[in-house]
Amino acid sequence: MFVDSHCHLSFPDYQHRLPEVLSSMAEAQVVAALCICTTMEEFATVLGLANTAANLWASLGVHPDNEGVREPTTAELCELARLHASKVIAIGETGLDYYRLNGRSIADMGWQRERFAVHIQAALQCDLPLVVHTRSSSEDTLAMLKEQGAGRARGVFHCFTETVDVARAALDLGFHISLSGIVTFKNAETLREVARMVPDDRLLIETDSPYLAPVPYRGKTNSPAYVPHVAAAIARERGCSADDVGRLSTRNFETLFRVRVPDTAHAP
Ligand SMILES: [Zn+2]
Ligand SMILES: [Zn+2]
Repeated sequence: MFVDSHCHLSFPDYQHRLPEVLSSMAEAQVVAALCICTTMEEFATVLGLANTAANLWASLGVHPDNEGVREPTTAELCELARLHASKVIAIGETGLDYYRLNGRSIADMGWQRERFAVHIQAALQCDLPLVVHTRSSSEDTLAMLKEQGAGRARGVFHCFTETVDVARAALDLGFHISLSGIVTFKNAETLREVARMVPDDRLLIETDSPYLAPVPYRGKTNSPAYVPHVAAAIARERGCSADDVGRLSTRNFETLFRVRVPDTAHAP
């Protein structure tokens, strides 16, 4: 069995397609998915999705790339997370992204760092893991998690695209590493190196749907049902089976997010 630890089913690509997505997941033995929130405005939709199926959960947070959207406070994040505690299992996605500076300097991105700090505090206060997005910003991301997280912040570096050294630093902080379909791309040798070094108990898999469909669907709209292809690529690097990667990453998902995925193997 497999779990997609990061997808955006609230995006327009899937409008009115949820039944189709859920049945293709079942066919592919993808037993659960975490629906990721990227703005406060979107949260009701993400939560609504999670409420429609026992094997869907939601995160709560504002993506670092989103500008001109509502800024949450730590108190607001905590209150919403507590109110919907049965479905909200993570804070995020949050983090830093210096890739699209649009003519600005890193010094100008203080607003992103403030937003990230609000999310880290919320995660600590309501004892939830963080779903961390980091792009061209790993040094600051790690430093903020270390300083603001005070050794208590936990979570996952999602859609990991950094170096082995950054992976090691994230692991040293106690974080999990989630690999996406990028690991199936031809030019992703560094990522395959990461796939070989992440310990069994820290590895997660994801699709980041609708983006980044794995080979052989590269360029198409991604789907949680494709996450076994991510597992298969990782398995090739680790010298085990895709089912092994599915099993251990499912167990890690349950441990990190403190949930039980519905056990389809014993379903009537
Ligand atoms: Zn992301
Ligand atoms: Zn995402």
